[in-house]
Amino acid sequence: IHREDTQSSAKPVPKTSVTFSHPQRLYWPNDGVTKEGLADYYAQVWHLMAPYIVDRPLALLRCPDGIDGPHFFQKHPWRGTNKAIGQIADPKDKRGEPLIRITDFDGLMALVQSAALEIHPWGATTRSWEKPDMITMDLDPGEDVTWSDVIGAALELKQRFEDAGLAAFVKTSGGKGLHVVSPLKPQAGWTAVKAFAKAMAVSMAKDDGDKFIAVSTKSKRRGRIFIDYLRNGRGNTAVAPYSSRARPGAAVSMPLEWSELSDQISPDYFTVTNIAPRLSAMKNDPWKGFFDAAQPLPK
Ligand code: ATP
Ligand code: MN
Ligand code: MN
Repeated sequence: IHREDTQSSAKPVPKTSVTFSHPQRLYWPNDGVTKEGLADYYAQVWHLMAPYIVDRPLALLRCPDGIDGPHFFQKHPWRGTNKAIGQIADPKDKRGEPLIRITDFDGLMALVQSAALEIHPWGATTRSWEKPDMITMDLDPGEDVTWSDVIGAALELKQRFEDAGLAAFVKTSGGKGLHVVSPLKPQAGWTAVKAFAKAMAVSMAKDDGDKFIAVSTKSKRRGRIFIDYLRNGRGNTAVAPYSSRARPGAAVSMPLEWSELSDQISPDYFTVTNIAPRLSAMKNDPWKGFFDAAQPLPK
C-alpha cells in the first residue's frame, strides 16, 4: 500500500498515511480479496472516483468480518471513527448525530480500514446540501427480465433525459442492474428533483406498462423493470461509481461508455480484481465531462 507507482497507467498511484491493521484480512474470502487488495483497487481508481465521493454525505455498508459476517448500513460516525473520516452536521438536523464525509484519499483509505465495503453518497455535495447535483435512476429488473431489456430501459431513459435537455451517463450497479445518472446544476431543491425523477419513471410505466413499473411492490416486478427513482430524495443514497459491493464476486459499480452496453458485460462483470485490464483498455474516463455537462433541472 505504501509504495510508489509501479503500474504502467498514466496516473500516479496516490499514497496514504492511514495505518492498516491486518492488511491480509479477507474481505471477500471466496474471491481472495483482502483489505490490502481493496486499498490497491481504490488507489487505481481514486482519480476517477473522487468527484463522486469527496465532500458528500456518505452512507456505508460496513462488514468488519468480511462479506460473510454481519453487515451494518451506517450513516453516522461510530465510536473510534478514524481521524481521516470527517464528521459533519446536517444543517437541517444540527442536534442530530453528525454525518460521514471524506475530503481526500486518506479518507477513502480509512473507509477501507473500517471495512466499509460499499460507499453510498448523497446526490448532493456538502457545498450545496439542499440542491442535488445529479439524478440517479436505478433500474431494478424483476425475475424473467433479460439483460437486453435492461439495456433497452437504460437507452430509453437516456433518450428521455436528452429530450428534457439533460445529459445521461450509465454504470453497472455491481449487482443486478444499471444506474442511469444525469448531472444537474445545483439549483433546484430536493422536492423538485425527486418529483422530476418520479414523473419520468411514471411516464415510462404509463407508456409501456408491460415492461416498466414505477412502484416498488416486489410482487408486481415479475417480467418488468422497476424504474427506481427513490434514490433522489433528501438523505437517500445510491452506490458510488467505482464502489465495491459486499456481495460474492467483489463486483464494483463501473461507469461505462454507452457504446459498451452489451450482452458481454453483465452488471457484475467488473470487479476489484479485474480493474487493471479495464483501466489499461479505457481510452478515456467513460464519464469524462460529467459535471461540465450539468444543466439546471428543466421547468
Ligand atoms: P442492484 O443492482 O442489486 O439493485 P443497487 O445498488 O441498485 O444494486 P440495492 O443494493 O438494493 O440496489 O440498494 C438500493 C439503494 O438503497 C442503495 O443504492 C443504497 O444507497 C440504499 N440502501 C441499501 N441498503 C440500505 C439500508 N439498509 N438502509 C437505507 N438505504 C439502503
Ligand atoms: Mn438497483
Ligand atoms: Mn433499487
